[in-house]
Amino acid sequence: MTDISNSYTEPARTIDIVHRTDVLVVGSGPGGLAAALAAARCGVAVTLVERFGCFGGNLTVVGVEGFAWYRHEQTVEAHGIGWEFEQRAKAMGAAVPESQSLSYEIDSEGFKLVADRLVEEAGIHAMLHRLFVAPIMDGDRITGIIVESKAGREAILAKRVIDATGDADVAHRAGVPTIKTPVEQMQAASVMFHLAGVDKKAFLAGVRADPQTYKDWSTGEWEIETSGKEDAMFSPFLAKPFAQAIRDGVIPKHLNTIAGTWGAMHDSGELTYMNLVHLAGCDGTDPDSLTKFEIEGRRQAMLAIEALQRYTPGCGAARLRNFGMTIGIRDTRKIIAAYNMTESDVRNEARFDDSVGIYPEFIDGYGVLIIPTTGRYMHVPYRAMLPQRVKNLLVTGRAIGGDRIAHAATRNMACCAVAGQGAGIAAALSLKTGREFDAIDIRLVQAELARQGVRYL
Ligand SMILES: Cc1cc2nc3c(=O)[nH]c(=O)nc-3n(C[C@H](O)[C@H](O)[C@H](O)COP(=O)(O)OP(=O)(O)OC[C@H]3O[C@@H](n4cnc5c(N)ncnc54)[C@H](O)[C@@H]3O)c2cc1C
Repeated sequence: MTDISNSYTEPARTIDIVHRTDVLVVGSGPGGLAAALAAARCGVAVTLVERFGCFGGNLTVVGVEGFAWYRHEQTVEAHGIGWEFEQRAKAMGAAVPESQSLSYEIDSEGFKLVADRLVEEAGIHAMLHRLFVAPIMDGDRITGIIVESKAGREAILAKRVIDATGDADVAHRAGVPTIKTPVEQMQAASVMFHLAGVDKKAFLAGVRADPQTYKDWSTGEWEIETSGKEDAMFSPFLAKPFAQAIRDGVIPKHLNTIAGTWGAMHDSGELTYMNLVHLAGCDGTDPDSLTKFEIEGRRQAMLAIEALQRYTPGCGAARLRNFGMTIGIRDTRKIIAAYNMTESDVRNEARFDDSVGIYPEFIDGYGVLIIPTTGRYMHVPYRAMLPQRVKNLLVTGRAIGGDRIAHAATRNMACCAVAGQGAGIAAALSLKTGREFDAIDIRLVQAELARQGVRYL
């Protein structure tokens, strides 16, 4: 019943504890999947909870296929589970060479199978189709979570919890201080799509005839700051067809934000990872905002396709193959961590005693683009995953502590996998050694990282 103040008091109820585990990872994107695999490889019982029907996060459900498009000859990396994602995808026929780098474009559908296989092999207890809705607290200590699903409301208890929801959902509801970029300054959201029916030969001939560079990312609508060395480098960028479509009245004038990158041109005529629709003002933690921009994003995607059909070589017979299963969100909550990474850290090769892995000098977001064509790299610190106020919880993936430009580096999938692997190992070892997360022996974590093949120095 709704009272006059428009609120409703939910009656207390008793629910079933459906599962108990050592390490519970909530969210299975590059961060959570890496965390679950790393913890399981330390020999503890691991459970992976995910709201959708597949693992992979943005990589699978949004269709973000450019896992390591920053990689060039001089780039140095942590390797570890992120590298394994690419290698396994390649081995399972779910990756093709990426057009602008020395990396592989990971097939967003095929990676669902790669992730299934990795989870099975590691002996992880999989719990798909469950949405985290509330923490179970014992004072300031998280001891489990409540999920909602077709089965109703259920409790899962855990000795250690890792929040890898991307939005810091668990941390936020448990009372961890978080920050959220004001919505008008958030990175845009995107409805991603994939095409079928493209003439590969004609499309690539068109790209060769008019190659675009990272300098072209500054369209007038956006200004992108580079370090200069990026400006002449090839980028699989598309803006001209949409400008022409505006001139011809095919796309309304105010939609001058339609532009961006294509991912992979397949022999089958599929042109995938079309990152062209940018939706400013979308708050990924507000379902009304998500509803509005899912619908608006699909509308803009269809306008983009019409422009491609008219003005892009090889796309005359192109048709929509599919949208991502959900809108792509780049930017929401971040925890205020024991250490919050800074712009200076990611621009100046930061070094930390509690490093859990290295990440090349790759910055992409908030108007900055730096490609790691040099051997420069930073350390990712453990303390950026350690939240304030709540015990027994680590937060990994894109919600780790840091300012905006730090986020433009750490949000990238391969960096989320570096952080995730560190979080997973830390959770397993904190349990095995009986130490709290804020008193962990980082040397033991680093020894296990080395054993798992991660470069952390
Ligand atoms: C359109 C777009 C393009 C991008 N392009 C690139 C790119 O080219 N290269 C790159 O490296 N990065 C790119 N990014 C950034 C990158 O995809 C993300 O920052 C990264 O995937 C974050 O990883 P994560 O593991 O933290 O979270 P996510 O990948 O978001 O995974 C979080 C997982 O948690 C689940 N989850 C969330 N809430 C709950 C809940 N309450 N209960 C249960 N499960 C939950 C989600 O379903 C999801 O599976 C892009 C992002 C977008 C949106």
